[in-house]
Amino acid sequence: ELELSLKVVIVGNGAVGKSSMIQRFCKGTYTRDYKKTIGVDFLEREIEVDGEDVRLMLWDTAGQEEFDAITAAYYRGAHACVLAYSATDRNSFDAIPSWKLKVENECGEIPTVLVQNKMDLVDQCVVGPDEAERLGRALGCKLLRTSVKEDVGVMSVFRHLASRCLHE
Ligand code: GDP
Ligand code: MG
Repeated sequence: ELELSLKVVIVGNGAVGKSSMIQRFCKGTYTRDYKKTIGVDFLEREIEVDGEDVRLMLWDTAGQEEFDAITAAYYRGAHACVLAYSATDRNSFDAIPSWKLKVENECGEIPTVLVQNKMDLVDQCVVGPDEAERLGRALGCKLLRTSVKEDVGVMSVFRHLASRCLHE
């Protein structure tokens, strides 16, 4: 049976929880300081979406985003994208439009979802619900909220992207 394989890139400022999200989705684990496994570009997991088996390859960075030094190889051939920011980090929210542009420059228009992570830290939230929705609309991306820590919403992010890719 034919199986769909999707390369998914996860971009956003450092420390918003990108590596943790990949680890959570692919391994079902969460740690306070996740270090990228040396020599591994991506982790993968297969899920069933709309009756189809879909293999998701989630590409991680080794922290190059902190220096704006993500290479073209990271983006090459990506089918879908997660734009991630942290609810507790204003700069990470403000940086989202420029991350969207970088992905567009390398990949063109691909299914993309905007993700607000760390929703467990409600009392430290510095991004209002309205402005988050507005940004999602302006960028043409669905806004989803996650707590990678509490394992809330992570599956929805990847189901949404896989479904979008299936029905393109
Ligand atoms: P990256 O630089 O974007 O890859 O971010 P990391 O995955 O390394 O996460 C940065 C820090 O945020 C780590 O200490 C994580 O444990 C923490 N973190 C990630 N997701 C969450 C979350 O949903 N809630 C909370 N409270 N912390 C999180
Ligand atoms: Mg990381």
